[in-house]
Amino acid sequence: MLGYTREPAGLHIVMGLVMIVLVIGLGWVLPITLGVRLANKKNHSALWMLFGIHPVGGWIAFIVLACVTPRVRCINCGGFFGIHFRICPYCQTTFGNEEPGPVNPSPPLPQIPGQIEP
Ligand SMILES: [Zn+2]
Repeated sequence: MLGYTREPAGLHIVMGLVMIVLVIGLGWVLPITLGVRLANKKNHSALWMLFGIHPVGGWIAFIVLACVTPRVRCINCGGFFGIHFRICPYCQTTFGNEEPGPVNPSPPLPQIPGQIEP
């Protein structure tokens, strides 16, 4: 009889531990892990996930990071700015292939030695 009562109690303890691991894993560690990955992918600081000290703060920070636009880093000064910028707001370096550059004039015709230009 004693063994019959101990076995369900042990099962309850195991199930309780599993539930604690699931709640901590899904509710606390998951948003921090996903948020850090998202922050690195979008060139934002992963320190935003320090809001994950509180589980609800972690989910809020993750949602905010999922909504913000990605940033790019200036190759000249290292400043961060939105991907829609074509000129660095800090050092005025121009970026992007879509920038209309100066149209190259047609290359000069090769000169044949001895030819006299009109
Ligand atoms: Zn710059």
